[in-house]
Amino acid sequence: MSDAQLTVAEIEALRGKLDAALAAELDGAVSLRHELHAAPDLSGAEGPTAAVVAAALGDPDAPQVAGTGRVLRIGPATGPSVAVRGELDALPVTEQTGAAWAAPAGVMHACGHDVHLAALTALGRAARAVELPVAVLAVLQPREETFPSGALDIVGSGVLQAHRVCAVIGVHLQHALPSGTIGAATGPVNAASDELEIAVTGTAGHAGYPHLAVNPVPALCAAVLALQQAASRLTDPTHTVALSVGAVTAGRAANVIPETATALASLRTFDDADRSRLHQALAQIVASTCAGYGCRGELKITLGEPPLVNDPALTTATWPWLGQSGFAVADDFRSCGADDFSYYSQSAPALMLFTGTPDTVTLHHPKFLPPDDMVGEVARAMLAGYLGALTLAG
Ligand SMILES: [Zn+2]
Repeated sequence: MSDAQLTVAEIEALRGKLDAALAAELDGAVSLRHELHAAPDLSGAEGPTAAVVAAALGDPDAPQVAGTGRVLRIGPATGPSVAVRGELDALPVTEQTGAAWAAPAGVMHACGHDVHLAALTALGRAARAVELPVAVLAVLQPREETFPSGALDIVGSGVLQAHRVCAVIGVHLQHALPSGTIGAATGPVNAASDELEIAVTGTAGHAGYPHLAVNPVPALCAAVLALQQAASRLTDPTHTVALSVGAVTAGRAANVIPETATALASLRTFDDADRSRLHQALAQIVASTCAGYGCRGELKITLGEPPLVNDPALTTATWPWLGQSGFAVADDFRSCGADDFSYYSQSAPALMLFTGTPDTVTLHHPKFLPPDDMVGEVARAMLAGYLGALTLAG
């Protein structure tokens, strides 16, 4: 980003102008947040949400990317840009917040993406009111909550190179941090996330004649327990690994031995070597445990996001700007959550900031409803990330 060459004093002056312009946009952004929250779209069907946000950002004809996504460039038409990501999709959750602007049954912004989009809109509109040295590229990303990943498709589309993106900023609400605190650690901050499917095959039969059948249910139970131990025995205990089994399915009647039993699990790792070693070891454990029960056990692994790695230089350059906005910086916050923002971190210097919320319920809960103040908090965190990227260039 050598074209920029800004001094810290110049960036401070710019910060003052952007901060004032941002404050003027927040009332409108809160209304937009309510509008988006009331009309959520599921992953892959975010066209209406993208159209509303693009119009609010002043460019209803912004080009589409990765299906229902959009990109909008604000500021200088040429030269480098700093991308700021907002996720478009909601979750298949039935809202229980009781808010006047609650969503209809079945779909809900339970991950705060309504807040992120409203904040990005406020920042984009503020950026239009100020002469920017480096463009902001608002990335309205589809399919954060599902496969195939929208971030991976945006990275693969070449749009980031076309706009000479020199840094990618993401901000996510985080119920595990207190309000007023931003999680901004350097290095890996979110885990790689892979989905495991354990399939056990036995021989069907009558519950009263177990010796004439091979019941896959005890084999699956043993395999599930063996996997729990494997996660703690096969990796260096100073490394973070989480393995959670979330679904178990077998049979439909008490007196019928089924032929098959299956389980679904999620594996979270931070280290590539741990990740590949566990893939091999877990498959072996499933096969051999089930063999001990006379069954065939197979492990299918669907690779998910890689670890999310915050660029150290971009992260530390952003800390002072977060402080200027009154945030406390948690420089050690990591979690085994996963976010496809990690794909950006593999293609450009990237920074994910986690904004603490006063909520007592967790993300993805049907009662998750962060207060409207969070729109301004998220927008100021995005602004700090943009200024951090400018600082690196100076
Ligand atoms: Zn999310």
